[in-house]
Amino acid sequence: MNILVTAGPTREPLDPVRFLSNRSSGKMGYALARVAAARGHKVTLVSGPVCLAAPENVDTVNILTAEEMLAAVRERIEWCGALVMAAAVCDWRPAVVSPQKIKKNGASGNLQLEPTPDILETVSPGKGSRVFVGFAAETGDPLPEASRKLARKRLDLIVANDVSRADSGFETDTNQVSLLDSTGGVRHLPLMSKDEVAAEILRWIERKAALVS
Ligand code: C5P
Repeated sequence: MNILVTAGPTREPLDPVRFLSNRSSGKMGYALARVAAARGHKVTLVSGPVCLAAPENVDTVNILTAEEMLAAVRERIEWCGALVMAAAVCDWRPAVVSPQKIKKNGASGNLQLEPTPDILETVSPGKGSRVFVGFAAETGDPLPEASRKLARKRLDLIVANDVSRADSGFETDTNQVSLLDSTGGVRHLPLMSKDEVAAEILRWIERKAALVS
């Protein structure tokens, strides 16, 4: 299959030296890209700024902002048979980006924010028979919010994880996730390496694609 994976955080500038972002390391998305390529798929990885080496046999496109990630995904949506949005896209960005560094005594102390475009919701009209997978990173029980996002973003599968655990979520090499699908199926996976989680997700995508094709 042609698989489009997004990974890492986005970075939303405030001025030339400051930005809003989040703790995403990109490890889960990079594991997905690496494992998908190893399983024989053609993979494009759209990556926010991370400290990881580009995976082998994967076409990697580097972006910074949510707007740039949206443009990179849009360009490739027709090409892909599956979209896996593992990126932690910033939901908000500064409403005004200063072209100069904001001076301490020139700032009001208030930051005005505006929402970024929701990438999954924007590309979902072009979904067709493509398999769409999203992630829900929550603090505390992720299942209620994950199942709301599964419906709202019209996903086939959502990967729910509790990012407040020390051994799971951001920056770790392991993850404990639950897979919720659009037919109501729920699978709670044990704590495993991000490569093993990636293999579980890819096996699910391969089975789903075989059913819809
Ligand atoms: O930020 P949120 O928890 O809503 O993210 C859930 C899913 O939606 C993730 O798969 C994320 O990559 C995707 N997302 C998106 N565009 C955004 C924010 C999140 O596609 N602006």
